[in-house]
Amino acid sequence: MTMPHRLSVYLLLLPIACSRSRETPAPNGAAREAGTPAVADAAPAAPRPAPSGGDVPEAEPAPAPGAINTTPNEFLARGIPTFVLGTAGDDRADRIVAAQVGLVRELFKASATVLDDSIDVAAGASAWPPNPVVYGGPDVSSVVARLAPVLPLSLGPDRLAFGEREFRGTDLRVIAVVPARASDANGPGHPEFLLYAGTGSAAVAEINGVQHGQEPILVANAFGRLQAGRWERSPAGAVAAAFPDPPSPRIAWRVVERPLAPAAGDATPATVRFGFPEQLAPAGDEAEVIDAALRGLAVAVKKLGLAAPSSLSLYVYPDRRSKLSLTGDQGDGYAVVSANVLHVLHADPSPGGPLETLVVHEGTHVLAYAAWGPAGTALVGEGLAVWASGQYGGATLDQWKQRLDAPPRLADLLGAGFRRTPEATAYPLAGLLVAAAVDTVGLDAVRTHLLPAPASTWSDACVAAGTTAEALQSTVDGMLAR
Ligand SMILES: [Zn+2]
Repeated sequence: MTMPHRLSVYLLLLPIACSRSRETPAPNGAAREAGTPAVADAAPAAPRPAPSGGDVPEAEPAPAPGAINTTPNEFLARGIPTFVLGTAGDDRADRIVAAQVGLVRELFKASATVLDDSIDVAAGASAWPPNPVVYGGPDVSSVVARLAPVLPLSLGPDRLAFGEREFRGTDLRVIAVVPARASDANGPGHPEFLLYAGTGSAAVAEINGVQHGQEPILVANAFGRLQAGRWERSPAGAVAAAFPDPPSPRIAWRVVERPLAPAAGDATPATVRFGFPEQLAPAGDEAEVIDAALRGLAVAVKKLGLAAPSSLSLYVYPDRRSKLSLTGDQGDGYAVVSANVLHVLHADPSPGGPLETLVVHEGTHVLAYAAWGPAGTALVGEGLAVWASGQYGGATLDQWKQRLDAPPRLADLLGAGFRRTPEATAYPLAGLLVAAAVDTVGLDAVRTHLLPAPASTWSDACVAAGTTAEALQSTVDGMLAR
């Protein structure tokens, strides 16, 4: 298909400097994941990149009093971060925050975690822990809720505003280093803090997968980075956001809706909203693409045993360049679990082919997150998706049993080791682990105990599920024996 020139225009508008795919797209089906706690990936070109791979950050001198426009990378390089968990939301929201912080902590050799209600906000900056990283908006974090009257940004269910500059949507996210503030008649002071928050009910779900780190303010939505900004101080001393650069390109989408047939004849099936670039004529195989994606989602629904799967949106990109330009990601596909959105590259839609298996994998991420909540480790989160699709990189799990040679121990993949291991080892091994776990204790126990377990409680979770970490390792070893 010939690409109209209009789409190329968007390529030129792309802020090239901030684009880097975390995963090399596999030849078939595998994809970059949105779930990566990606602090380390935020700024490959930064003079002082955020800590990665467990390196202890060098302590940085504190900023000059009144400094604004610290970037997240600079903030995280300053010293041991204290993650402030929001607990003001419902149980699901609190779990989302806790899981995200748990994943991000893996990137740091040292960090601290406190609950938001342990901070006496009214007492001002001195009541805060050092280097605070706050997760959640006012609906989730009581700290943000209590500071709302004095913050230079405000968040609602479908609205993010910086003074008069307003963003609308239920898929918005903001990553910002909020400048320190002294107590005054308007309200309490607070130290400089790094905020991860957004609109919608799952805004911080895998929020570290948003490419960030070099801007004091970044707004993103379900398509990725949307608008970078910085802080300005008025002569009177008030801090306000400014957005001098143009927003990232967005295009109009032609939407085709189809019911997502549930596994067990539900009366009100979920809906799949397919999005195709409006400026392009429909591809000749559009009907086949839709059918392939629906088959893939049906497989995911069936494998997960979901009686009431959530509705979702699935955007189809004609080629890698346009996907990169419009989402900042050039992988075959990725899931934005905070918004129930999948982005996939057009691929062979034949039955059981690359597009179908890609959608099983990415659809599993979205459907499982919506139904069951966050994965505690990338190992099980990815393993579930690989297991559901029955393959990785075009090879079945049975084929991978023959290919994996001297793979790492599962225990070494529970934390940050997973993302440091070549994907073509880590992913199929994760799929085999989930296959072994489902065979051993059943999917319900995997869902209840193993999926949400962070690395720190993995052994206990295995016992709660009815097995042990050692037994699962032995089962996987047995699969690989030859
Ligand atoms: Zn995945």
